Amino acid sequence: MHRVLLVEDNELNRTIIEDAFEFDSIPAELACAENGCQAIELAQSLKPALILMDVQLPDLSGLEVARRLQQITTTRNIPVWVVSAHALKGDEELAFEAGCVEYFTKPLDVASLGEKLKAFLNQLSQSDSNHV
Ligand code: MN
Repeated sequence: MHRVLLVEDNELNRTIIEDAFEFDSIPAELACAENGCQAIELAQSLKPALILMDVQLPDLSGLEVARRLQQITTTRNIPVWVVSAHALKGDEELAFEAGCVEYFTKPLDVASLGEKLKAFLNQLSQSDSNHV
């Protein structure tokens, strides 16, 4: 099963996404990091298929984490989806410049995130089986 790494320091927000994985049959195992440094460590050790990234973290900003992951050979190809409380004009562009590929704003539309996750993971499983 594929792994998804959630980087989120807020416990309530983590629970919302954990519940979506548990009850909305998203076909992946969810791991969580609570800060940027932990996120960089876990991204390297777990090699997740995808990272869901909060922007405001206690140590590094999520966008800085995304930039650092791009400098590391083993993590540079992991897609990063931003889940941000920032909805200011230009924030989305900053996220894309940092290498992030999707941008969701809080309050999070969990159903729409779930649908995108399922589509992404199903496509990934299909391309895996094509390569076998
Ligand atoms: Mn946060």
